[in-house]
Amino acid sequence: MRDYGKFYIGGAWVAPAEANFAEIINPATEAVSGRIAMGSVADVNAAVAAARGAFAEWSESSRETRLIALKAILAEYIRRSPELGEAIIEEMGAPRGLACGFHTYLGQGHLQTVIEVLETFAFEEPLGATLIRKEAIGVCGLITPWNWPLNQVAVKVFPALAAGCTMVLKPPQLAPYSAQLLAEIIAVGGLPDGVFNMVQGAGSVIGTALSRHPGVDMISFTGSEGVGVQISIDAAPTVKRVCLELGGKSAFIVLDDGDMAKNVADATSTMMGNSGQTCSAGSRLLVPASRLGEALAAARAAADAITVGDPQSGGIAMGPVVSKGQYNIIQDYIQQGITAGATLVAGGLGRPDCIDKGWFVRPTVFAGTNDMTIAREEIFGPVLVIIPYADIDDAVKIANDSQFGLAGYVSGADLDAVRAVGKRLRAGWIGLNGGFDFHAAFGGYKRSGNGREWGAHGFAEYLEVKSLLGYAPG
Ligand code: NAP
Ligand code: MG
Repeated sequence: MRDYGKFYIGGAWVAPAEANFAEIINPATEAVSGRIAMGSVADVNAAVAAARGAFAEWSESSRETRLIALKAILAEYIRRSPELGEAIIEEMGAPRGLACGFHTYLGQGHLQTVIEVLETFAFEEPLGATLIRKEAIGVCGLITPWNWPLNQVAVKVFPALAAGCTMVLKPPQLAPYSAQLLAEIIAVGGLPDGVFNMVQGAGSVIGTALSRHPGVDMISFTGSEGVGVQISIDAAPTVKRVCLELGGKSAFIVLDDGDMAKNVADATSTMMGNSGQTCSAGSRLLVPASRLGEALAAARAAADAITVGDPQSGGIAMGPVVSKGQYNIIQDYIQQGITAGATLVAGGLGRPDCIDKGWFVRPTVFAGTNDMTIAREEIFGPVLVIIPYADIDDAVKIANDSQFGLAGYVSGADLDAVRAVGKRLRAGWIGLNGGFDFHAAFGGYKRSGNGREWGAHGFAEYLEVKSLLGYAPG
């Protein structure tokens, strides 16, 4: 049983202002796996005060000082990676191979990328007689979700540190363990007291207090659209910068000229990864209408081949979804798909055969149309909707017919055609034939948000731009 009863504030582990604890449920077993302290507004005030107190020194620290700290954190992160993986298995049910693999590696990759960006970043640049200077924005409130818990924290905390900001992190209640371990890892990095602070607890208490706090200069939030809107409202009176990374309903377009069976199978199993709980998941699979039968057969085979079960076991591809609440939401969407007349190609309602405990969902594939609720709303579970298109223009039109615009994917044999389709998608993160890059900006158009994370673009979110006019006269 994990017992995380303290917060990291001002360079020390401190007890919460009020003794209040919440039990954490393991979604694979439905059993209690530990408890965390639940913070109050008093804890937020203490953490913000610590961050404000540390800002003058850290924002003026040298590039070298920050690099030394980040490299020390990286070494400790690598040393404790196996523990991070175990925490992720327990808190949100990712299977061992994924939790100890990509989940943990993503955090490390973002930290290494931030170090690379910081090594060469131009904080000062001449513009004629003016000097353009980039300076840390201030105290940041960082609010993260449970679905890629370590990744979401890493893409905020590490660039904020590198930029010279100080911060208060609010991890998700559903998955608080990996963030607690990360705070322990950061604590050995030699940062000045108060640069990094972490308070656990409810979003409605801790998140709201951070959003409204006059001592917080910026909120970076990843999560649902509704909470993003509420944060924007709460932050408005203090005119904070609010960076939002919200949901998606991204299209994966398979072009006619490639290996249809392989491209559809890859798109299906990738979408089902992490139990479909990925904001950038390609949850609408667009295939040529003339090859729909072939595509459905490939998707059915891929979905049926996904092994679902105990995430602790090594050979499992898919664990449970994060919680009972999430399970019920997904079941409701599957029922809506059936009721709307979508063709159930694989999976369906209920738990997989032979599983009677834990929040396990059947890898589910529908064939449907883009106007169905299952094609319009983010399900955040292993539910794929396959939609036929008539020609390339039709595919692009369907892909862009969404209130979201986070990601898009294109697979095909003719790279020029793949590139051309990618350029026409109204979304921020477009994967061409499986491309991936830690330095590429990640973030959404439309209702998917207004921020960018990862690499130099994510770093820039934590900076103000100052113009020193007349800096170099003549
Ligand atoms: P959520 O309910 O919006 O919660 C996200 C975080 O916000 C949690 O830490 C939550 O605290 C906190 N929060 C809740 N209410 C708040 C409030 N009034 N003020 C401030 N903070 C508040 O999202 P979720 O259910 O955890 O995650 C699923 C959603 O996140 C999906 O829509 C998904 O697409 C999106 N997402 C987007 C990205 C991206 O990069 N674009 C990445 C991952 C996920 P609690 O601990 O109390 O819940
Ligand atoms: Mg929520």
